[in-house]
Amino acid sequence: MDIKTPLFGKTLGELQQLCAEYGLPKFTAKQIADWLYVKDIQAIDEMTNLSKKARERLEENHTFGLIDPIDTKISTDGTRKYLFPTEHGKFIETAMIPFKDRKTVCVSSQVGCKMGCLFCMTGKQGFQGQLTAGEIVNQIRNIPERNEITNIVYMGMGEPFDNLDEVLKSVEILTAEWGFAMSPRRITVSSIGIVPGLIRFIQECEAHLAISLHTPFHEERQNLMPVQIAYPLEQVIAEIKKHDFSGQRRVSFEYIVFGGLNDTPRHVKELARMLAGIKCRINLIRFHPIPGTPLHGTDEATLQSFKDALNNKGILTTIRASRGVDIYAACGLLSTKALVKKT
Ligand code: SF4
Repeated sequence: MDIKTPLFGKTLGELQQLCAEYGLPKFTAKQIADWLYVKDIQAIDEMTNLSKKARERLEENHTFGLIDPIDTKISTDGTRKYLFPTEHGKFIETAMIPFKDRKTVCVSSQVGCKMGCLFCMTGKQGFQGQLTAGEIVNQIRNIPERNEITNIVYMGMGEPFDNLDEVLKSVEILTAEWGFAMSPRRITVSSIGIVPGLIRFIQECEAHLAISLHTPFHEERQNLMPVQIAYPLEQVIAEIKKHDFSGQRRVSFEYIVFGGLNDTPRHVKELARMLAGIKCRINLIRFHPIPGTPLHGTDEATLQSFKDALNNKGILTTIRASRGVDIYAACGLLSTKALVKKT
C-alpha cells in the first residue's frame, strides 16, 4: 500500500515540481500554496478553484497534512503548552507565550535532542528524530492563537542547526509572499553554535539569530555543553563578527545564570572582551532546576548586579521573564520523554 505524503510543508518550488509530475498547469502550484498557507481550510477537497481532476490526483497521493494538538496545558501566567504527535508516532511540545500585546510561539525543530546540554530536559530525553518543515510550521498554523501570533522563536525541543534543511524550509514558508508572508524580523532561530550550520544560516536566512552562550570560558562551557569540544565559542564569535548585525537583523546571546558558576565579575570582564565590536544583546535567563543536575540558579540580587555590570560595560543586557514554569513550558523544561517510554 502506498503511503500518502502531506502537502502541508511543501515550498512553492516543490509544489511546482509536483504539478509538473502530475501534468497539471504550473499556476496550480500557486493555487495549492494559497490553500495550504493563506486560506483557512483543512482538506484537499476544499481546494475549490482546482479542477476535479487535479484534486483527485492530489488525493490519490497526498493528505492535506495538518496535525492537531492532542493536549493543552495552561499556566497561571497564561502560557500554553501544546502536545503534538509527529508523522512517525513521536511527540513534541510547543509553547505559546502571551506577553502584553505580543503572542510568541516557541517551536520545536526536533524530537528530543542529541546535544546533551547539562541544564536541559530535552537534552536528557536524547534524540528521537527530525521534524519536517511541515511539522515545524504546523506548530504555528494549527494552534487556536494562529491568527494572533506576533513572534516566532525556534527555542523549543531540539537544535535547529542539526536539522537545518527543514528549518530553513520552514522559515521560507513562514516568510514567502506565497506562504505566511511574515517579516523575518519577527522570527528568531536559536542555536548552541554548530559552526557549519551557522555559516549557512547567516548566508541563506534573514531571521534573527540567538546563540546559547552560557559562559565565555572554554572549560566551563565544555562541562555545560559538549558542543564546545567540536565548535568552541571563539569560532562561533569569529563567524558572527564576519557579518554586520548593526542593521535590522539582530544577534543576541542567551545566558542562563547559574549560582556561583557563571555570575562573577570575571565572567562580565571576559564577556565584554569577547563580544566587543558586535552590536548585540544578552538575555539573562533564570535557571529552572531539573532532576539529576548539580546546577542551581543564582539569587535575585546577584542576577540584578550581573545585569547591571554587563550594561555598564556597554552590552545591552536584559533579564528574561520566566513564563510557564508551572506547566514545564519554560526555557529548558520541554520534554516528551515519558511519552517516548510509552510508545
Ligand atoms: S539546550 Fe538546546 S541544544 Fe542543548 S540539549 Fe537542550 S534542546 Fe538540545
